[in-house]
Amino acid sequence: MTQITSRAIHISQHGGPEQLSLVQVTVGEPGPGEIRIRHKAVGLNFIDVYQRSGLYPMNLPMQLGMEASGVVEAVGEGVTHLQVGDRAAYASQPPGSYCEVRVMPAKCVCKLPDGIGFDTGAAMMLKGLTAQYLLRRTLPQGGLNPGDFVLFHAAAGGVGLIACQWAKALGLQLIGTAGSDAKCALAKEHGAAHVINYATEDFQARVKEITGGRGVKVVYDSVGKDTWDKSLDCLAPFGLMASFGNASGPVAPFSPGILGPKGSIYVTRQTLFTHIATRESTQAMADELFAVVLSGAVKIRIDQRFALEDVQAAHRALEARQTTGCTILTL
Ligand code: NDP
Repeated sequence: MTQITSRAIHISQHGGPEQLSLVQVTVGEPGPGEIRIRHKAVGLNFIDVYQRSGLYPMNLPMQLGMEASGVVEAVGEGVTHLQVGDRAAYASQPPGSYCEVRVMPAKCVCKLPDGIGFDTGAAMMLKGLTAQYLLRRTLPQGGLNPGDFVLFHAAAGGVGLIACQWAKALGLQLIGTAGSDAKCALAKEHGAAHVINYATEDFQARVKEITGGRGVKVVYDSVGKDTWDKSLDCLAPFGLMASFGNASGPVAPFSPGILGPKGSIYVTRQTLFTHIATRESTQAMADELFAVVLSGAVKIRIDQRFALEDVQAAHRALEARQTTGCTILTL
């Protein structure tokens, strides 16, 4: 049996970035439904921070990371959509992408089209599939139509810059918020119709002004605690609050009774892993993502690169809001 060694990043207890440690692991052969993949690059995501800190409690010790690209090195029984030598990329459940080589379930792994490089593949799968399900599958009554207003928080981040471009390609008027004027300029450059610096401006008042008092059809909110209350008040009647993250902390419990007077609004909490639970849905969503990237409508912007062994610095930068666009770990 082949035994391969790999550098990997593990945590043995929840806590700050200092909990991330570089270890050597042994990787075996893939079992039924699995592949072994040798990574070319690894994507960094805010969910990695939640799993490290314990906001999302995990079974420990664990290997972090949910996104990467690489070359398929071995294929287990029953895997038909991948072959040895294929270029591939994925957003994975379970975690474990912070490494050089791993064995993992094949169903979440997609062949990477020739026109998409490994770094881009590693940066775009989890974030791009998230933008896909938010803009294409998480819809208000009557759907989204060209010209409609949506509000997207943290618009200059990894998911944010992809969403700005994709929303523009769909003809939507995306109002993007971000924490500095420079980040707002970046979101605008990438297709946001309007931008609001929510560190210095009242975003609720500005959304009212921009939409002529009507409000937006959907708020896509990954900031959580700090934006929740005002976000609900940005919605038009029957609008949809799509919560998908908690970068500032979790949203406090609330009574559904508050939603009626705000205009019979809808609230949902979405996670990518429901959308990519099957091979079929994963591939269908990835095909749409690959198409918008290959057409040039969505460009994957990698603004930060850290070596795998510098992962602590990468986590610190992400949590300190010092990053824009995507961040990858290089091998
Ligand atoms: P980002 O690159 O967007 O980084 C997070 C951004 O959140 C920061 O840059 C910052 O932008 C903003 N932010 C606001 N308040 C805080 C705070 N107190 N601390 C830190 N950051 C803050 O990360 P990702 O692209 O990886 O992910 C974006 C969001 O989407 C995350 O919340 C993530 O958990 C969520 N997500 C959810 C998924 C799902 O399916 N549910 C899947 C993928 C991502 P600024 O300075 O402009 O405010």
